[in-house]
Amino acid sequence: MPADLHVHTTFSDGTDTPLEIAEKASKIGLTAFAITDHDVVDGIPPALEAGKRFGVRVVPGIEFTTEVPDAEIHIIGYFIDIGNAGLKSTLKKIQESRHKRIHKIVEKLNMSGIDIKAREVFELSGGSSPGRPHVARALLKGGVVRSIKDAFNKYLGWKGPAYVPHYKLTPVEAIRLITASGGTPVYAHPAVSNYDRIIPDLISSGLKGIEVYYPGHSKADVKRYLEIVDKHGLIATGGSDYHGKMKEISLGTVTVDDEVVDRLESAGGYSR
Ligand code: AMP
Ligand code: ZN
Ligand code: FE
Ligand code: FE
Repeated sequence: MPADLHVHTTFSDGTDTPLEIAEKASKIGLTAFAITDHDVVDGIPPALEAGKRFGVRVVPGIEFTTEVPDAEIHIIGYFIDIGNAGLKSTLKKIQESRHKRIHKIVEKLNMSGIDIKAREVFELSGGSSPGRPHVARALLKGGVVRSIKDAFNKYLGWKGPAYVPHYKLTPVEAIRLITASGGTPVYAHPAVSNYDRIIPDLISSGLKGIEVYYPGHSKADVKRYLEIVDKHGLIATGGSDYHGKMKEISLGTVTVDDEVVDRLESAGGYSR
């Protein structure tokens, strides 16, 4: 039975609400999906509600944007306890940094002669986990750029004139935080980071899975990560990284068997 374990909602940079996702999931025959918004868990309670309504199992999750000096590494936590105090205080710190960063990005754009207001960005983000995609959408809406890609290429990308970093955990910190919150840490789309040399460190810090199946992964990537998973007794996960209507990837493009969901659930926290 198919489960899509990587989905973004309007609570981060997705364009579908949790309710719309649950409805779509039931329509296309998914038995489960995981909410994995960037650095925020606010979409989980409404998603659990919506899942009940449409008869689809909802996995509470989060995708942390973490960094090492020369790469960005995304770590997903499945089955985290969203009431965990340590998790809540870290998320608050990241959210504050993401908010301040929007103001800084807008200032930089203004200095480049672009008329954009922070309020316009926050209107598009709903306030929960504002990011560069929301700035890109505001620029598109204001007619400053022709596409989201254009916005990243001209202004928001790494080394672009309006690039501003935000506070990030290291991958090891994210793995520890997820584990302490009762969750199961998984390395998301490793081929996108192209930083396999970090995997041994992640495993010794408590990593329990690798997102082997992913739209951007080649056959060779899948084979390589499956070998690592087998060698270390990890869980092979997968998902579409669905972001809604604005991107080409549809919900359920990549799925794994329901059995993976059970394994992720029982691997939560310090259990081994
Ligand atoms: P942030 O977390 O605010 O730094 O934004 C990162 C998000 O921006 C990623 O998860 C992608 O969805 C999106 N993104 C990054 N680079 C690009 C790009 N070149 N074109 C379109 N979207 C991008
Ligand atoms: Zn995203
Ligand atoms: Fe990601
Ligand atoms: Fe994602």
